[in-house]
Amino acid sequence: MHRTGLFALVLLMAVAVSLVSREQDPRLKKASRAAEHAGWIQIHLEGSPTEIGFQHGYLLASEIADNFKAISTEMVHEEKHDWTFFRKAAEDTFWPHVEPEYRDEITGIVAGLKARGVPIDVWDLVAMNAWLEFPYYDKWHEKATGTPSTGAGPGDHCSAFVATGSYTRDGRVVIAHNNWTSYTSGERWNIIFEIVPEKGNRIIMDGSPGLIHSGDDFGINSAGLMITETTISGFSGFDPAGVPEFVRARKAMQYANNIDDFARIMKDGNNGGYANNWLLADRNTNEVASLELGLKNVALQRTKDGYFVGSNFPADPKLIKEETDFDVKDLSRSENARHQRWLQLMAENRGKIDLAAAQRFLGDHVDTFDKTTAYNERTLCGHIETSPRGMGTWQPPYSPAGAVQNKAADATLAAKMSMTAALGHACGRDFKVAEHLAKHPEFSWQREILHDMNARGWTKFTAR
Ligand SMILES: [Zn+2]
Repeated sequence: MHRTGLFALVLLMAVAVSLVSREQDPRLKKASRAAEHAGWIQIHLEGSPTEIGFQHGYLLASEIADNFKAISTEMVHEEKHDWTFFRKAAEDTFWPHVEPEYRDEITGIVAGLKARGVPIDVWDLVAMNAWLEFPYYDKWHEKATGTPSTGAGPGDHCSAFVATGSYTRDGRVVIAHNNWTSYTSGERWNIIFEIVPEKGNRIIMDGSPGLIHSGDDFGINSAGLMITETTISGFSGFDPAGVPEFVRARKAMQYANNIDDFARIMKDGNNGGYANNWLLADRNTNEVASLELGLKNVALQRTKDGYFVGSNFPADPKLIKEETDFDVKDLSRSENARHQRWLQLMAENRGKIDLAAAQRFLGDHVDTFDKTTAYNERTLCGHIETSPRGMGTWQPPYSPAGAVQNKAADATLAAKMSMTAALGHACGRDFKVAEHLAKHPEFSWQREILHDMNARGWTKFTAR
C-alpha cells in the first residue's frame, strides 16, 4: 500500500476507536460539531483553555492533519527552509511570548489530536499558527544572520470594508471581507468557530483547522465588536521579542469590549508580524474604525458616519515611507486598483449599503485600471489563476490563488451572534484543479494538496 494510503487507514481506524470513547470523555461534554453545510464545518467549543483546545483537536483531528500537510508543504516550498527550521523558530522565538491561556489551548489541541491518533506536536502547531507571520520573521532572520533572501516575502491578503451612518441603509454598521490566499489554503479555511471561553467574550469567527486565531481575522464577539483586516503590502519589520500576532489577534477577538480595547491589545507587545490594517465596527456605538498597525507607526481613525476600506494598500504617509516599499501611485497594482473600486462602490451606494450589497461587492469584477470587467488580481473578487501578471512578489502569473471565501454581517446579525459566509469565489466561478494544472504544470508541486474550489453561495451561521 502507498504510504499516504496506509497513514489514512491508520488515521481512520484511530478515529473509529476513539469515537467509541467520545461520550465518556468529560472534556467533550459542552462541545459539538455540526454536519458540513455549504462546505463549512461549524464547531462549538466551550470551557477552560485546555478544554477548548482538546475539543478543537478532537473534533477537527482529520481536518487539522490535512491542513498541516497543506500548510507545511507550502511553507517549505515558498520560504525555502526545511520543516525543522520552522519548528525551531516556533520553540525559540514564538513560544516564549505566548501567554499561559493560549499555551494551554495549544497543548489542549495537541492532546485532542493525540486522542484521535494524530501525531502533531506543540512545535508543529505553533509553527502552523505563526504561518502568516513567518515571511516577516524570515526577512528579519535573513538580516540578522546575513543570509541571502530566499523566500517569497509577505503576501497581500484580502479585500474588506466597514461602513456606518449615512452610508448604510439602516444607518447601522455593516462589515464584509474576502480572504485572499492560495487555493490550497482557501479550500481548507472552512471552519465556523463558536467559542465560549471561561473568561472574556463569546466569539463567532471563521477559521482554519488547528489555528487558535481566525487567521483571516473575521469575527464578532458578544461585547458587540465586529472585526476584520487586510494586510499591509510591501511591509518590513519584525521584533522577535514581541508577542506573536496570532496571540494578540485571538486575545483582541476574545477580550476587546470596544474599539479602544482592541487597539490597546493589538499594540501591547506588537511584534510586527502579519502587519494589518484592521477594520472594526462597534454595533453599540455605531462607530467604525481603521487601525493601521505597523511596527513603528500605528494609526487609529474612527467615525460614526463614513466607511473604511481595505485592499492591502498602506495609508499613513509616515508608515508608507518608513516601513514599506509600496508605490501608492502605481494604479496598475492590485492593491491600488481595488482601492479605487472600493471608493467607487462606497460613493455609488451611499445610503444603500446593507448585507446584500456587501455580499455583492465581494463578487465584484470591475478592473479600474483597464476599465473593464475582468477576472484577475485587480478585482475585489481576485482570480490570480487567470492573471498573466500574477501578484507582486507573492504569487507568480497564473498561480492558483486569489479570493477563497467571504464573510459579511450587519448590526442585526451581530446582535444575534450570526454571520453570513460563502466558500469559494463570491462571483460564482469555480476553480478546477485538473484543468488548471494541465495548462500550468509549473504548479504541479501542489498536486497532492490542491483541490477543486467550487463556489457554494451564501449561508447564515448562528452561534448556539
Ligand atoms: Zn470572482
